[in-house]
Amino acid sequence: MPSYVYDFVEGNKDLKDLLGGKGANLCEMTRLGLPVPPGFIVSTDACRVYLSTGAEPPELGRQIAEHLHLLEGRMGQQLGDRDDPLLLSVRSGAKFSMPGMMETILNVGLTDTTIAGLIRHSGDERFAWDAYRRLIHMFGKTVYGVPDELFEHALDVAKRAAGASNDLGLSAGQLHELVDEYKKIFAAHAGRDFPQAPHEQLQLAVRSVFDSWNSERATVYRRQERIPADLGTAVTVMAMVFGNLGANSGTGVAFTRDPATGARGIYGDYLANAQGEDVVAGIRNTLSLQELEQLDPRSFGQLNRIMDRLEHHYRDLCDIEFTIERGKLWMLQTRVGKRTAAAAFIIASQLVDEGVIDLDEALRRVSGEQLVRLMFPAFDLSHADPPIATGIPASPGAAVGRAIFEAHRAAAESGPTILVRRETNPDDMPGIVAAQGILTSRGGKTSHAAVVARGLGKTCVCGAEALDVDVDARQFTVDGVTVREGDVISIDGTTGNVYVGELPVRPSPVVRYFEGELSPLADPLVAAVDRLVGHADAKRRLGVMANADTPDDARRARRFGAAGIGLCRTEHMFLGERRMLIERLILATDEQARQAALDELLPLQRNDFIEIFRELDGLPVVVRLIDPPLHEFLPALADLTATVAAAQARGEDPGRDGELLVAVRRMHEQNPMLGLRGVRLGLVIPELFAMQVRAVAQAAAVRVAAGGNPRPEIMVPLVGTMIEVPRAALTAAEIATAADFFSFGTNDLTQMGWGFSRDDVEAAFFPRYLQLGIFGASPFETIDRTGIGRLIRIAVAEGRAARPELVVGVCGEHGGDPESVRFFHEAGLDYVSCSPYRVPVARLEAGRATVL
Ligand code: PEP
Ligand code: MG
Repeated sequence: MPSYVYDFVEGNKDLKDLLGGKGANLCEMTRLGLPVPPGFIVSTDACRVYLSTGAEPPELGRQIAEHLHLLEGRMGQQLGDRDDPLLLSVRSGAKFSMPGMMETILNVGLTDTTIAGLIRHSGDERFAWDAYRRLIHMFGKTVYGVPDELFEHALDVAKRAAGASNDLGLSAGQLHELVDEYKKIFAAHAGRDFPQAPHEQLQLAVRSVFDSWNSERATVYRRQERIPADLGTAVTVMAMVFGNLGANSGTGVAFTRDPATGARGIYGDYLANAQGEDVVAGIRNTLSLQELEQLDPRSFGQLNRIMDRLEHHYRDLCDIEFTIERGKLWMLQTRVGKRTAAAAFIIASQLVDEGVIDLDEALRRVSGEQLVRLMFPAFDLSHADPPIATGIPASPGAAVGRAIFEAHRAAAESGPTILVRRETNPDDMPGIVAAQGILTSRGGKTSHAAVVARGLGKTCVCGAEALDVDVDARQFTVDGVTVREGDVISIDGTTGNVYVGELPVRPSPVVRYFEGELSPLADPLVAAVDRLVGHADAKRRLGVMANADTPDDARRARRFGAAGIGLCRTEHMFLGERRMLIERLILATDEQARQAALDELLPLQRNDFIEIFRELDGLPVVVRLIDPPLHEFLPALADLTATVAAAQARGEDPGRDGELLVAVRRMHEQNPMLGLRGVRLGLVIPELFAMQVRAVAQAAAVRVAAGGNPRPEIMVPLVGTMIEVPRAALTAAEIATAADFFSFGTNDLTQMGWGFSRDDVEAAFFPRYLQLGIFGASPFETIDRTGIGRLIRIAVAEGRAARPELVVGVCGEHGGDPESVRFFHEAGLDYVSCSPYRVPVARLEAGRATVL
């Protein structure tokens, strides 16, 4: 019979698939002998059965009852006992952390009957009613969908009536009245009274945690984080410990290092006399752990020792949740903590210095996606007015956008926005995803807004307390300045500063380092990037080239570490003034006129190549012969038709426009992407390719004569050295007999393999596809391993079988996409070629691919 329930003593940290991250780590802490309240875990297997069949597995009820019985034995308390009731927390926990996206219900087991026992045993009536009102609120919201605001409103009314500024100002009697009010709200919306059977509470709570896997915010979060939709969540059921038992109790969250900068030392927020989610929800302002040291030095000392132990055990930054119940410390959660991209690099490098991990492991702990984030610009403050406020720098970056005060409006806006809230909650997820940045007036570095923003790589400033945010009026005020919805603001997630208006931005230090403007020793981040990219270079098998077709790009490619140019798109050299020469070529009626146009193009092309070969002296430059159909260099058919018609209407001779129109009509194609382009054009107008090849050869000769070492390679687009149509991939063996190397044009290969127009679909229906979860990411961004990837594998194998020394690379956009780079490594390619700015990312990922 399958097991669906596991005791904390049965699991360990490696069982995240089965027990979820939270459950597995609670087991691990239990094994380490840390003070964890006893409990058990309902597995993700059970959740998956529930999600796919709509019902819990038949054995589940009995298995939960057995484990509950064991727990009761261990605690010496029973669920529903009227003298000394056991209370439980019921918490979600998937394999991958989804902070705040799913549900938690605390104090399960409290009823009108058991509350008397709780009052007697705790000796604290206020605490017991506080616990009960929290249960009805969380249970009502989670299990029966009672709107949060109704409970919040009733709480506000009670506070106002009591003249209390926060929940601590409510007395036992007032909380008792609030519980009665909550029960009415519950009954009105749930269509039944609040359940008075503790076992029913537990069963419904477990089910609603399962259901919360498919809540809208959880679904949005998973899509964003590319977490598979079918994993399901585990449910952790644990004996309650109470942080709301008076001033010597409290609850907190902490990190073993600063998750924003990587700075060592424990770091976090503490809230006295509070329970569970109060800290992250930003309800009251929190204390720092240094303040906890003053309040409760013994618990603080123990916390320090435990965190040190956890860091050593996990060999990484850990974050934890803890509760102090009347001076006794309890650990409620730990995990390897989320961090900013900068902190990921810095911490990985620090851990190497500390001898905790080696460089290969350090490489596993950073990613190309993170390096991409680090290459974003920051604000240029040289001419900026002073900030209007400073909050907590919770997630770095420089974000500019229109202030929007509600998540759904931010999600609906088309331009860049900054979501401004007093505090965020998980329902704000769609707005957080859509916004450039998040600004809140409440909450610390561990508030919901901060945690989620860091996970998504969004800029976030939180706890900017000077801001008086009025969501209803859609504005905030600070020191006499009013910012209304739609006004542009700038927020700096590195300093916490908030500015009115649009601030200019400057390049990131990481980019300046790659540009050669900053020494690798400039700051700890640059030093860590230098070290890890350097190690990746030492490990990687894949070469990294760049796509560049101007001398400027070529220089940057070289500075950023490219081993050459893998794609020089020559059609970019036919634009501007030179377009007229193409027109003349197309309009030429005889051989002589055509040759004259080509003769004028030749020296221009030769000079282009001379410059690029000079920049890349000693390194290979792959020159691709002209690819797009020629009509792309002519005026658009519709415009030209109108011009000619207008001239004719005026009784004038349209002259050259008339001739052009005839040519454009002759060459017009319904599907130019599938038309006369690439090698096909080369066959129909061979003189054009011939001119380009001559220009390459002459440029090389000029460079050799000047003492240089040019290394040109010539690439025939579509089907040739480039493999861009599926048939080319499938006939690679034959092509390899004529081609010295292959370069996959994965943009076209994706377009033609899927039958997706690369110019249209990403704007047309991909957003819907992404929303529906049909794609996790666009196949134009991340290579489709199963389909297009298979074409690539076939072509590599058959091409190399025909010509063993065949060099194989890729030059589509995928060459700079971290996940795709890992695929190209696995598929045995020799190199990737990508835009110059992506070269460091590809270097890093190519190195990581060897150690993953
Ligand atoms: C490609 O198709 O992947 C490619 C590199 O060529 P282009 O993007 O110029 O069509
Ligand atoms: Mg192409």
